[in-house]
Amino acid sequence: MAGDDEGAVERMRSLASVRRAREREKEKRRGGAAEQARAAREVIIPDVITVQELSNRMAVRGVDIIKMLMRQGVMLKINDVIDSDTAELVATEFGNTVRRVSEADVEEGFLDAEDHDEAQETRAPVVTIMGHVDHGKTSLLDALRTTDVAAGEAGGITQHIGAYQVRLADGQRVTFLDTPGHAAFSAMRARGANITDIVVLVVAADDGVMPQTIEAIQHAKAAGVPIIVAVNKMDKDGADPTRVVNELLQHEIVVESLGGDTQIVEVSAKTRMGLDNLIENILVQAELLDLKANPERTAEGVVIEAKLDRGRGAVSTVLVKRGTLKRGDIVVAGSSYGRVRALLNERNEQLTEAGPSTPVEVLGLDSTPSPGEAFAVVENEARARELTEYRNRVKREKSAVGGVAGASLADMMAKLTAKKVSELPLVIKGDVQGSVEAIVGSLDKLGTDEVRARIILQGAGAISESDVQLAKGAGAPIIGFNVRASAQARALAEREGVEIRYYAIIYDLIDDIKGVMSGMLSPIQRETFLGNAKVLQAFDISKVGRVAGCRVTEGVVRRGAKVRIVRDNIVVLELGTLQTLKRFKDEVAEVTNGMECGMAFAGFQDIREGDEIECFTVEEVARTL
Ligand code: GDP
Ligand code: MG
Repeated sequence: MAGDDEGAVERMRSLASVRRAREREKEKRRGGAAEQARAAREVIIPDVITVQELSNRMAVRGVDIIKMLMRQGVMLKINDVIDSDTAELVATEFGNTVRRVSEADVEEGFLDAEDHDEAQETRAPVVTIMGHVDHGKTSLLDALRTTDVAAGEAGGITQHIGAYQVRLADGQRVTFLDTPGHAAFSAMRARGANITDIVVLVVAADDGVMPQTIEAIQHAKAAGVPIIVAVNKMDKDGADPTRVVNELLQHEIVVESLGGDTQIVEVSAKTRMGLDNLIENILVQAELLDLKANPERTAEGVVIEAKLDRGRGAVSTVLVKRGTLKRGDIVVAGSSYGRVRALLNERNEQLTEAGPSTPVEVLGLDSTPSPGEAFAVVENEARARELTEYRNRVKREKSAVGGVAGASLADMMAKLTAKKVSELPLVIKGDVQGSVEAIVGSLDKLGTDEVRARIILQGAGAISESDVQLAKGAGAPIIGFNVRASAQARALAEREGVEIRYYAIIYDLIDDIKGVMSGMLSPIQRETFLGNAKVLQAFDISKVGRVAGCRVTEGVVRRGAKVRIVRDNIVVLELGTLQTLKRFKDEVAEVTNGMECGMAFAGFQDIREGDEIECFTVEEVARTL
């Protein structure tokens, strides 16, 4: 819009501004005037920058930059990207000084180098509980919560913040992470957030090793995290811990009694049997791992979950990995930043600081970061803005569906073939950002080049009227994971015929969507060969049309079956139908190898002596993902 077609007023104005710019430049050469203090800024220029962004940084109108470049013979639009040399030229032309930074430079120093050994202190282990659905993960987490010394009294663990720390009588501590599922664990790991020190694998004693148990083992092994097996539900009649041990053996989990190195503990989340023993084992394992961190430095860690709270704004639960996070610190997490306004622990206590292995809720960020993203304290707000602006820009550039320029061939291919893809539009709302991301990640993996889920909207929080509106517009059902629709939203959905489906288990959700997407796959045409025949003679019969006298040379030919007709090795009819099949004067259903018969084909009158007839059936086979 800017640049090409503007009125006279605009032209005059920009001429004036060019003149102003010239004057500023002259003034600068002269050694500066009062005016200059305002005009000359240090403009930070990265490897590439859009004209728009450059104009923001110089506080000059984009159109002026475009005109200036035009005079240099470069035609650009406001959203075009220019390289740092061009940007520097522009910036100095407008009388600014320039600081060039490389993209990588911006990230430089965000996360610090390793700490020296001397500065390290022992830290609490971070434990993730995994296992098959209904084997008692939640029950065990709840039971362990009350092993806390202050449990039951005021100040016990009161809040659900996605992670909590249990304080033991001897002063030791254990941090438990409440990840919404194995997929979430992997999603975090994929972001490089290996925050779990120990995995407690819950296996129900009356059910044994199940698919998600195996999955959990794979996740833990892939992450290189030691496993402690908790055989749960020992109070139940059918409890058979020996069976669990044997089944684990098949998945290369060898317990200590069999000469392996995996600890196994029999527990009951219900009767609280064995909980102390489990904690004991966790502490032993932690000691073996020799977990250390330096508390005497600026804090770094990982975002566990984040949500938008109506009253409190962005609320992020983070785990401090090293250093000490303090109220008032300026924190960057992903592309969010802010000054820490409050720190809250799982007891709803206000903290002034949080050291290594401590999970805390952080208030004060400007938006919700994604789970698994690293956070770090930075020196000042300018640095925070620089980082987050850069990260946002990278995000935008990645998601930009721009012109052909700069697009890779792969992108273009994807765009071209995209038209054939059937898409299942979905609106996904979940209780926390972490589960939503895990769901979206799993759905992404389901997609093929023929069908895929298209997420219209994803987010944490209850299903609102605007979600329903959006879903209606896109013809998408709404998937609610551990969230419900508001009464108004429910009423609207009913009125508008928008389906809302609720789930509490990610796997059920994925399974259902997989079923729907499988149904969207076009079925395969499966061809089954029946037989071959050769045309001995072809003749016309009034009323019937052209008829072929044939001999079956292989298999059988069947009336109603499909035929392919080949002449001199060239297919002359690809998919015909054997409409009439006769033996002597009689219509027959089938003629077998070696016998002669008469054939006529629906809509095909060009049959000739010597043609080969291939007879086959076609069935449609539904496919699954
Ligand atoms: P999750 O899906 O792994 O989180 O499993 P839950 O903690 O939700 O537990 C599933 C079911 O098993 C619930 O009905 C629990 O009450 C029950 N349960 C969990 N632990 C025990 C236990 O130790 N003994 C008995 N008898 N039931 C248990
Ligand atoms: Mg559960």
